[in-house]
Amino acid sequence: KHSPCIVSACLIGMFCRYSGEVVSFGPAVELVRQGRAIPFCPEAMGGLSTPRKPCEIKDGRVVDSDGVDQTAAFRRGAEEGLRLAKLAGCTEAILKTRSPSCGCGIIYDGSFTSTCIQGDGVFAALLKEHGITVRSEEDLVG
Ligand code: SF4
Repeated sequence: KHSPCIVSACLIGMFCRYSGEVVSFGPAVELVRQGRAIPFCPEAMGGLSTPRKPCEIKDGRVVDSDGVDQTAAFRRGAEEGLRLAKLAGCTEAILKTRSPSCGCGIIYDGSFTSTCIQGDGVFAALLKEHGITVRSEEDLVG
């Protein structure tokens, strides 16, 4: 049996983006429809509300735009996602670009000026550490 992958829940239009916007991305919806992906949002599962302040990673901490440290919630959500991925036997994840949780390879630099740097979000980094292949939704169509 082929294992499903984890997909960022916001990519299938779930109400979990920090901005409260609902935007669905067809190829991700299709994966879930076919039973090939399980949607998950680490920030919602870590206890954060929607909508919420934008967060960025700075010096290894996750901080919101008011300067409040949200690292604990981000870590808790990432751990829950790892637990789900292991339970379902996932070896792959398709995660939303540039998010401080889900970003893979490129994230914002912590200055809240839309400046990107190399790096992984908290959830993407944890999955990678545990041997799960992480790609972004942009790789789904590329
Ligand atoms: Fe989407 Fe990930 Fe942000 Fe949740 S944490 S809203 S799944 S990018």
